[in-house]
Amino acid sequence: MDTLTKLIFTSQDMHIEPDSVIDCRPTINGHTAERRIPISEVVKGSGKKMKILKTMLTTACERNCHYCPFRAGRHTRRATFQPEELARIYSRVHAAGAVEGLFLSSGIIKGGLATQDRLLDTAEILRRKLGYRGYLHLKLMPGLERDQLRRAMQLASRVSINLEAPNPTRLKSLAPKKNFDHELLAPLLWAHQIRTRENPQGTWNGRWASTVTQFVVGAVGESDLELVSISEKLYRQAGLQRAYYSTFHPIHDTPFENLPAEDEKRKIGLYQTSFLLRDYGFTLEELPFDADGNLPRGLDPKLAWARLNLSSAPIEVNRASREELLRIPGFGVKGVERLLRARKTRSLTDLSQLKKLGIPAKRAASFITLNGRLPTYQPGLF
Ligand code: SF4
Repeated sequence: MDTLTKLIFTSQDMHIEPDSVIDCRPTINGHTAERRIPISEVVKGSGKKMKILKTMLTTACERNCHYCPFRAGRHTRRATFQPEELARIYSRVHAAGAVEGLFLSSGIIKGGLATQDRLLDTAEILRRKLGYRGYLHLKLMPGLERDQLRRAMQLASRVSINLEAPNPTRLKSLAPKKNFDHELLAPLLWAHQIRTRENPQGTWNGRWASTVTQFVVGAVGESDLELVSISEKLYRQAGLQRAYYSTFHPIHDTPFENLPAEDEKRKIGLYQTSFLLRDYGFTLEELPFDADGNLPRGLDPKLAWARLNLSSAPIEVNRASREELLRIPGFGVKGVERLLRARKTRSLTDLSQLKKLGIPAKRAASFITLNGRLPTYQPGLF
């Protein structure tokens, strides 16, 4: 199999769930690729889109996670790169302008340590030999050592290890050969220690890589509360930048092939809740979980909280603290910053002023006062 075909196969096989994927035929060394490479579009924190190539060093794996298309023993095509081979083909695709970043993962062969070394070799070649200065998301392999993690954090823009499940019991049902505490949770905690205690010497851009994790949602009966509890703990104790929630989709020829796919809508509530915990000062006890620990499907948890707590006690926008403002539906982190700046020079007296600050006035109208008066919402104006 030639290198470009391997890249197409490994990139296609990464896209097992709905994603924002575009097909790309890069022109490399004057020749346009005959077949398309799937490229993911991701939205950065700034709101800008970035084209990312998601691929794997090898799609062979010796582990047997029940949900995974790459699990050992499954009948499927496999492709393996040498580190230099992958670094060079990615470098050419990048130089051709087809992508802006690389998400690099791998199946596990000969243990997590050896696999991590091959991922690090690939990153080293990209950064040191080929002078790559772009975005690199490097996966951490279960069982890696602390020194390998430090090296990954020096070479990458972002590192991640997927917890997959919210606790050891759920993980056993999902991925029997993975160890929750030692293999998955420990590296997330080490990353925080490195980031907070060590000088970022030897990093490619003077900063330690950020850390994220991902959960498989809906395969083994875990509740929303279980998922957001561990996410909140990681935001507080491990400096986690973001928890991702990947809804379960059954894969043919795996032990979970007959399970139903999880409702995509479930992850909307999980993301909303995890952001309320990370950025808006909410606690788990304040959020609207039902008796089974699940969030109401289709109802914004911040709106649910506001209906209970602000309907009869609206917040005065001209005097409220940043923390109070963040609790109003429609008031985001950036909108509140703009409002606090605007408030220094003038009093806010009507909803159109909020709208000019980028705050959706319609969502906020029932929960605020402006100079002591409940605002009048006129649909035609918004
Ligand atoms: S270790 Fe990773 S690649 Fe291997 S079966 Fe599990 S999830 Fe899939």
